[in-house]
Amino acid sequence: MKYTSHYISKIGKISIYILLFLCITTAVWASGGSRRSMGVFDVLLLPRVWIGALFCLAGIWLLMKSWVQRNLRLVILGVVFFTFGILPALPLGRFAWGMGMHPSPVCAITKPFLFLSADRGVPIIFLTVLAVISVLSIIGNKIFCGWACPIGAIQELFNKIPLPEKLKVILPFKVTNSIRIIIFITFITLVFTAGIGIYGYFNPFHFLHWRFEAMGILVFLVTLTASLFIFRPFCYTVCPIGLFTWVLEHFSLIKVKVNKHNCTDCNLCIKKSHCPAVQSIIDGGKSHPDCFACGRCIEVCPHNALGFVR
Ligand code: SF4
Ligand code: SF4
Repeated sequence: MKYTSHYISKIGKISIYILLFLCITTAVWASGGSRRSMGVFDVLLLPRVWIGALFCLAGIWLLMKSWVQRNLRLVILGVVFFTFGILPALPLGRFAWGMGMHPSPVCAITKPFLFLSADRGVPIIFLTVLAVISVLSIIGNKIFCGWACPIGAIQELFNKIPLPEKLKVILPFKVTNSIRIIIFITFITLVFTAGIGIYGYFNPFHFLHWRFEAMGILVFLVTLTASLFIFRPFCYTVCPIGLFTWVLEHFSLIKVKVNKHNCTDCNLCIKKSHCPAVQSIIDGGKSHPDCFACGRCIEVCPHNALGFVR
C-alpha cells in the first residue's frame, strides 16, 4: 500500500512537469514558421520529436526503477499507438501535422538514400529524426522502438492477446536478422541502380497516414496477424530502423543485464516473455537479438536477477 501511494504520487508529480513542458513547447512550436525549410531546431521542436523523446526518457526511468508491470505496459502501448498513430488523424490542424509520422522511422532511414540516388540534397528533417533515434538508442537500448514507435506498440499489444502457449512462436534470430539484412542490401542495390525504394511495398507505417489504400491496409493486417503469434514480427524481420538500432544497441549505455549471483536458472523470464533476446542475455552473449526495452523479463523474474542498468 505504501509502495503504491509512493508510486502514484511520483507519477502524478512527473505528469504535471510533463504537462507544463508540453504546453510551453507546443506554444513555442505553434507560433513558429512554415513547414518548409526547416532547420535542426525546427525539427527538434516538432511535438512528435520531443514528445517521443519524453516518452523514451520516462521509459528509461521506469525501467531503471523496475516499475514496468504488465498492466502499466498495456496502458503505455495504447498511449503510444494513440499519440503517434491515431491523434495525427484527428482534426487538430497544425498540431496533428506536428504529431504525424512524417517521416516515419522507416522513411527517416530510407528516404535519404533515395534523395542521394537522385542527386538531391537530403532534407534536414530526415537526418535530425535519425539523429534523435540514434542518441536515444545509445542512451537506452532500443528505447525508441519500445516506447515511441506506434507500429512497434501495436505489434506488442497484439502479441499480448492471450493464446495457447504453443501458438506463441520464437523465430530463430539468425533467420529473422538475415531476412532483415538481405532486404536492406536489396534496397540499397535497387535504389542506386534503378531508383526503386522497395520498403514502400511493405511498410505498415503507410496505414497510419489513414488514407485507406489497399496495400497499406493489407500490410498492416498481415503485421497484426503475425503479431498474435510472434513478438514484433515486422521489427525483427523487415524494419530498417530495427536493424539500425540493433547495431546501436551494442553501444547502449543502459540496457537489460543479468545479475548472475541472483539468477537461479529457473528460465521463467524466457518462458513468459516470448522474446528471442532473453535467452541470450541470460547466457551473457556479447551480441544478442534486439531488446525492445519492454521490461517483461525484468517484471517476471522472481529473484530480481534482471535489471535495466548501466
Ligand atoms: S523496429 Fe519496430 S519499433 Fe522500431 S521503428 Fe521499426 S517498427 Fe518501429
Ligand atoms: S529482453 Fe526483456 S526487456 Fe528486452 S524485449 Fe525481451 S522481454 Fe523485453
